[in-house]
Amino acid sequence: MADVADLANDSAEEQLNLHLAQRVQFQGESLEFCIECDEEIPALRRRTLPGVTTCVDCQQLLEVKNHAYAKR
Ligand SMILES: [Zn+2]
Repeated sequence: MADVADLANDSAEEQLNLHLAQRVQFQGESLEFCIECDEEIPALRRRTLPGVTTCVDCQQLLEVKNHAYAKR
């Protein structure tokens, strides 16, 4: 009776792979709207930074956060 469990596992793994694949895609494709605040990301910013997902404001905020985190 391992079949059902195996199927469930396969499905979960498939979902995970799909998720990861979608995340990788983000790196090469810029988003039109910021994932943080839904503001439109300027076309120039999208072109200069392939895979950009945030507007300038959110990017700065994230960088400050990351910086604070790295200092710990
Ligand atoms: Zn934003």
